[in-house]
Amino acid sequence: MRALKIIYLYRMRFADVIGHEELKKKLVHACNEGRISHAQQFLGPEGCGNLALAIAYASYLLCENKSEDDSCGSCPSCVKVKKLVHPDLTFTYPVAPKGKIDKPKSSDFASEWREAVLENPWITYHDWVELLDIENKQGIIAVEEAKDIIARLSLKAVEGGFKIVIIWLPETMNAPTANKLLKIIEEPPDKTVFLLVSQQYDLVMPTISSRTQLIKVKRLSEKEIEEALVQNFGKEAPVARHLAHRAEGSFSEALRMINHEEETQNLDQWYLNWMRACYTLNMIQIGGLTQEFKAGSRELQKGQLQHALNITRECMMINFGPKSLIKIEGKELEDFTRFAQFITMNNCESFYQEMNEAIYHLERNANSGILFTDLSLKIHKLLRAN
Ligand SMILES: [Zn+2]
Repeated sequence: MRALKIIYLYRMRFADVIGHEELKKKLVHACNEGRISHAQQFLGPEGCGNLALAIAYASYLLCENKSEDDSCGSCPSCVKVKKLVHPDLTFTYPVAPKGKIDKPKSSDFASEWREAVLENPWITYHDWVELLDIENKQGIIAVEEAKDIIARLSLKAVEGGFKIVIIWLPETMNAPTANKLLKIIEEPPDKTVFLLVSQQYDLVMPTISSRTQLIKVKRLSEKEIEEALVQNFGKEAPVARHLAHRAEGSFSEALRMINHEEETQNLDQWYLNWMRACYTLNMIQIGGLTQEFKAGSRELQKGQLQHALNITRECMMINFGPKSLIKIEGKELEDFTRFAQFITMNNCESFYQEMNEAIYHLERNANSGILFTDLSLKIHKLLRAN
């Protein structure tokens, strides 16, 4: 992950979490009434900020001088939380074998994690595996981690208050890990709180989910993202509005676009080149693009196809949708309007479906080279069939 061009100092308080005002009130209210469930699951789509919320909640629980609605930000406990070094707040997240570490656990990558989350609490799974440089392996929460959590919790709280374990992406936990954790999640030691931060409820082991109190975190509104980009990241209002519109409720996506403007433009160009090669059935070009595609990591490949799917949708909007739903502007809009004429009422549905299916198979480890060539040929037929 490249360093953020714009660093926003995130202090891990509720006030720093974008949006979710109602939910924040509910959380502190429950806390102040002493209703603190020992296992809670913050479920929300990528980029909604559920990790940031869980940390802010932990910060509130641990704060020594909290107000009615937020942690103080300056007591010894808050100071440690905002640097992510509080001994009673530990994290579990997906990892994979790397170098000499063949049975990895979260603590093996603690400094990477700290740095990544301090820089960007809206971090995505993709950002994280890219940073760990384990892109071609799947990050998981393995049984070694479960043993480690149990060991961590067998010690008394260093500061005498709560002991909190934040489990980021429990959907990456396998069955042996889940089995090992069941008992401690159901009956944790006194003053222990598990905060699970998940994105896809149906992928979390049901045995784990059923032991948690579910807290639904909504997608952010365009207005919330726009305001945050203006206030915290110094973006001009029209730019912020445009980014918020394209980000589709994901603050991670808005940040990615700010920091990878060039990369996004390159992907747009890549898409147009690919479509041109498909249309003309230029097999030399398709072969070259396939080689390039194959060489990328699985996450990168998924990102490319996802981007292609988004652009396809934009082209459909340009052709058939209300203008207000078009998310691109300027030169981009010009380029895509020219291509959009090839996407018609006759082929748009199949076009969209083929791309979606390719992403589906890629996620299930299909051979990426064959998949890309195959998809290119299908697109050729669709583009010519209109
Ligand atoms: Zn405090």
